[in-house]
Amino acid sequence: MALLMASGTMKNKDAKPERDRPRSSETFERGKKTLVGGVNSPVRAFRAVGGTPLVIDHAKGARLFDVDGHEYIDFVCSWGALILGHAHPDIVSAISDQASRGTSFGMTSPLEIELGEKITNAIPSVEMVRFVNSGTEAAMSAVRLARAFTQRDLIVKFQGCYHGHSDGFLSEAGSGLATLGISASPGVPDAFASLTLNTPYNDLEAVENLFKQHPGGIAAVIVEPVAANMGVVPPASGFLEGLRAITKKEKALLIFDEVITGFRLAYGGAQSIYKIDPDLTVMGKIIGGGLPVAAYGGKREIMEQIAPLGPVYQAGTLSGNPLAMRAGLATLPKLEARKFYEDLNSKTKRLADGLRSALKEANVQGQVNLAGSLLTMFFTDQPVRNYADAKTSNSTRFAAFFQEMLKRGIFIAPSQYEALFVSAAHTDADIDRAIAAARESLASIQGD
Ligand SMILES: *Cc1c(COP(=O)(O)O)cnc(C)c1O
Repeated sequence: MALLMASGTMKNKDAKPERDRPRSSETFERGKKTLVGGVNSPVRAFRAVGGTPLVIDHAKGARLFDVDGHEYIDFVCSWGALILGHAHPDIVSAISDQASRGTSFGMTSPLEIELGEKITNAIPSVEMVRFVNSGTEAAMSAVRLARAFTQRDLIVKFQGCYHGHSDGFLSEAGSGLATLGISASPGVPDAFASLTLNTPYNDLEAVENLFKQHPGGIAAVIVEPVAANMGVVPPASGFLEGLRAITKKEKALLIFDEVITGFRLAYGGAQSIYKIDPDLTVMGKIIGGGLPVAAYGGKREIMEQIAPLGPVYQAGTLSGNPLAMRAGLATLPKLEARKFYEDLNSKTKRLADGLRSALKEANVQGQVNLAGSLLTMFFTDQPVRNYADAKTSNSTRFAAFFQEMLKRGIFIAPSQYEALFVSAAHTDADIDRAIAAARESLASIQGD
């Protein structure tokens, strides 16, 4: 494998490196017989960009290594979960130490209390927390809680925001389906879908209108405070403040889905940057240090409605899992280091600046949206402030760009509607290699 890697990276820098991936193809074909589409999460199948998906052998730092021995600089980082990069030695040793002390107790342990305290200390609006196993479960449970607490049924969400795949969230969730109130996903009854009101991101007036149309009917507004599932779309000035004011006035809850932004944009999440005090917060990805864990939390008065204190039922066999708690506990203190976010953000800014000038040089129309260590390059000539804007992107061009980048050993998310994630493991040299690859890639797709 080392030999293969060396030959893969030592080719003439100007030539497109060959990236034949026979073992990846073979493995993927075999997987397709057993796993649906050969994957366990749809985007991994590369349907939006074509070609053989990546089949990974191992990962380290900012690098993924496929089963053919090729190396890639990874700007997906497990969809943002790995803010310290892959296989950080301290996280590896925490997990392996814990493995020998038991992988699941089915009972409570000091580890989950400790991680709970880390989170409530980091995010003041989160006074109490409940650990679950995925962001989907966390968002679904937060909505159940909001409905119980307000005794109302309707939920407002924003077009292009993703809150996991539970029934009520599968309409206009960063996908192409668009009819308000109608099931966008087979298997979701219209009765469920009609309880979710979709509205454009960054449009306060539209939210006000929904409250007017449904007086006393809306339990909660759920929002990604910086949207990152239609590509990166930061909130317009006053948008989040406006949501807080409207929900307060209408006695609905404000739920921040910080599954991506929590511990990513700042240690206290997006809410600490925008100084908003949401009622409930949904977390995931980073808090598990790369293991499956998520959480929801918020005001004590609301959280106390959950069983065993209150009547809202929610449970989990593996919730608060000790391996995951140890990984989270090994991760969070590193993010508290002085200048951690400053360094991460300045690397990402370097990438954004490089991509913008690469677009200009190649004379390709595009927009680079940046928020902290999240970034999306949209192939469109208009500013992207909501889902409709994002959809003006030329996704064919994106797919061609993606493939050119992959050939050059740079892995970005295989969809126009996703963020690039920079980790602490990326070096300035990695960033510069990505910019150089983007310059070449843009030049080569120019005519497409
Ligand atoms: C990833 C994500 C989820 C879903 O988390 P899973 O662990 O994949 O179920 C929910 N909300 C947001 C904002 C996300 O990015």
